[in-house]
Amino acid sequence: MDIQYSVKRSRKRKKTICLQICGASEVKVYAPSLMPEAEILKFIEEKQTWIFKSIQRHNTSPAQKKQKEYATGEIFYYLGEAYPLEAFFEPMENHGVIFWKDRFFLNCPANEDMQKHYFELWYKEKARQHIPGRVAHFSRTLGLHPHDIRITSARSRWGSCSAQNVLAFSFRLVMAPPKAIDYVIVHELMHIRQKNHSSKFWHLVVEAMPQYATHRRWLRDHQQLFDL
Ligand SMILES: [Zn+2]
Repeated sequence: MDIQYSVKRSRKRKKTICLQICGASEVKVYAPSLMPEAEILKFIEEKQTWIFKSIQRHNTSPAQKKQKEYATGEIFYYLGEAYPLEAFFEPMENHGVIFWKDRFFLNCPANEDMQKHYFELWYKEKARQHIPGRVAHFSRTLGLHPHDIRITSARSRWGSCSAQNVLAFSFRLVMAPPKAIDYVIVHELMHIRQKNHSSKFWHLVVEAMPQYATHRRWLRDHQQLFDL
């Protein structure tokens, strides 16, 4: 079988390779930046059967939104990178999500609400670690200061700015690449100056971040990946 694939290398990735079936025949391979090409090819060859089956499954249920199963091998995103999950249940150890060596580990009984809950806790903590610092950075450079920052569970929007200039960001945002996160932050900060999406607003955004359209498109095209 001929497999079409594209390789995305990352310096942050230390050892593991991971595969993602993206479309009818598209396979993305996430690999460490220094891994030799031959090793990547060998990995793909070993996984041929799995890839072939996954592509078939993908093709038979095209429009269906993929529900998370919290199963080992499933992909979860963190700062724009895809990492595989190892799910298990060890009652005597702490329950929850741990991210270690390019992998997510979930210790939890097979209960979807609990699995979702633990991932949400983990992402919220990461969002609290990442987002306020970036807001502070852009606050300084743009001279725009929010009244407060909140991390929410919003599903349909990445961020918002209230009439009182309280900025809210969905914890899901921390699944997106850092530059896309920055775009949402700049977007919401700009609402402190301009409370609408007029051409004046977009003019301010493009001035602060000339590449904003790329990040905006990326978020729109990948939103469905970030459901828990
Ligand atoms: Zn807006």
